[in-house]
Amino acid sequence: MRCSSCEPLLDRYLEGTLSPREMIDTSAHIATCAACARLLEEVKVIDALLFTTDVPELPNNFTFAVMAETRSLPAPKRLQHRVWSFVTLYVTAAWIAALATFAVSGASLPKVGAAIAAGFGNLAQSFSGGASGIAQGAPALATFGVGVLSVDLALAAVAATVYFLIRPRLAAHLASVSEAQ
Ligand SMILES: [Zn+2]
Repeated sequence: MRCSSCEPLLDRYLEGTLSPREMIDTSAHIATCAACARLLEEVKVIDALLFTTDVPELPNNFTFAVMAETRSLPAPKRLQHRVWSFVTLYVTAAWIAALATFAVSGASLPKVGAAIAAGFGNLAQSFSGGASGIAQGAPALATFGVGVLSVDLALAAVAATVYFLIRPRLAAHLASVSEAQ
């Protein structure tokens, strides 16, 4: 007997429902074939598991207990909120730092404004391949102000893009999806 003929007979071999001839052949093959003997052990284990399907007893208040447990869990946080709180934190911290630096430096507001404007001018020039950027001759405070304002402008641009472009498209997409259902 070959393994391929033995394997399909193992279930009925265990049940003892094979013909006498098949029982003898299968038994002889298993005695000499380690692979089929191992498979027979696995079939025995599976059969044993199938015949001991105890249904676990649930306590009377099972549903109530699960629902109470679920309600006591904290609501899942949405990533969007974390991103916006991070942005708010950054902008607040940056402006506090900028104002503190301004206060400490004792520079007058128009002077700092002019320096920041000059800094932006240098930045624009360096982008267009002109002068060597804001570091050249620009006071540290102006450089810092330009940096903060640049990041703020970038954040504002991102926020505007999300609000005016992505949000309506997402809303339209979601509406079409819920219509399709
Ligand atoms: Zn075999």
